[in-house]
Amino acid sequence: MRVVYVDNNATTKVAPEVLEVMMPYFSDYYGNPSSMHFFGGQVQRKVNEAREKVADLLGADASEIVFTSCGTESDNAAILGTVDSYPEKRHFVTSRVEHPAVGNVATYLTRKGYKVNELSVDREGQLDLDELKEALTDQTAVVSIMYANNETGVIFPVEKIGEIVKSKGIPFHTDAVQTAGKIPLNMKKSTVDMLSISGHKLHAPKGIGVLYIRKGTKFSPFLIGGHQEKGRRGGTENVPYIVALGKACELARKNMNDENMRVKALRDYLEQRILEKIPNTLVNGDRSNRLPNTLNVSFEYVEGESILLLLSDLGICASSGSACTSGSLEPSHVLRAMGVPFTAAHGSIRFSLSIYNTKEEMDYIIENLPPIIQRLRDISPFWKDYLKSQGKK
Ligand code: PLP
Repeated sequence: MRVVYVDNNATTKVAPEVLEVMMPYFSDYYGNPSSMHFFGGQVQRKVNEAREKVADLLGADASEIVFTSCGTESDNAAILGTVDSYPEKRHFVTSRVEHPAVGNVATYLTRKGYKVNELSVDREGQLDLDELKEALTDQTAVVSIMYANNETGVIFPVEKIGEIVKSKGIPFHTDAVQTAGKIPLNMKKSTVDMLSISGHKLHAPKGIGVLYIRKGTKFSPFLIGGHQEKGRRGGTENVPYIVALGKACELARKNMNDENMRVKALRDYLEQRILEKIPNTLVNGDRSNRLPNTLNVSFEYVEGESILLLLSDLGICASSGSACTSGSLEPSHVLRAMGVPFTAAHGSIRFSLSIYNTKEEMDYIIENLPPIIQRLRDISPFWKDYLKSQGKK
């Protein structure tokens, strides 16, 4: 069956070049980078090379790169590692649209007796920076606000947020799991203290992440163990995956301009044709501040899950903005926080592209989506009510 994979914010294909460079580290170069002998030493050098490549993508110094097991670990380590460093401060600030890797840490801290502020977003998915200013106190241990949203692609004004947070002397973490490789980052000119990335969102395997920690940032290790990662994260390094991530970052840097422009053009083409061909459709999120690969679109009066299943039958892999919670289909917390109307939030679909997508694939989606929406609307009581209200039936 033909597969059109447009769910790259969920995970990406491992690039063939990445797969090729990582394989020998399972079979031939399996030494422990901490070992004294040459067999370990040669592996240590490769880990360091990979660290340099990650640092290059982030515009950071290699000494500021800590390898972790995933984006979730990086987020947890940044927030919990910082609150641990400031035990007297019992306040945490984040947003209402974070990934659960941050959102559920907020819930955990609330349970532990912390005061937590979750900043709201407007209809475009953007933050109110005055609300942020008001939330910060001398009790705030750390602020964690994502760089770009995984569901809508909305990019937050991270440098402005950082300026506000840093003016109060508070550590600032950002979850850039969806950002790295898609838009340029430069930690040398940034207000960010800590930044999370995840390998499997940029064509490296699942199970490898990075936490960037600016030199001088107070940080207690989240995984307590050996001296690895300069004592900032215990555990023998996942060498094949580290080498893979280094290569993926090198490729991402190379593709940053041309390939990402091509992806953006494909996304815009898909968006425009969907809006032209399907009535009662709206795009969710600030279209002027959005990742180049992401399109979150709502089809009023139909359910996202039904659309996904019918798309899936045709080999089209996208994702929906709803989550099945306790048997009822609840719209995603992101769309709810943005105040997307109930009738639209339920029928939201996220298309997230990668450099491997083609125009033919977009045409395949554009050809098949309108009849699917029509078919579902034909059996939707909400659509019938809507048509009646418009005097159309
Ligand atoms: N943060 C964001 C914004 C994400 O989109 C994801 C994954 O979807 C994560 C964190 C978690 O990353 P990982 O799957 O590597 O734990």
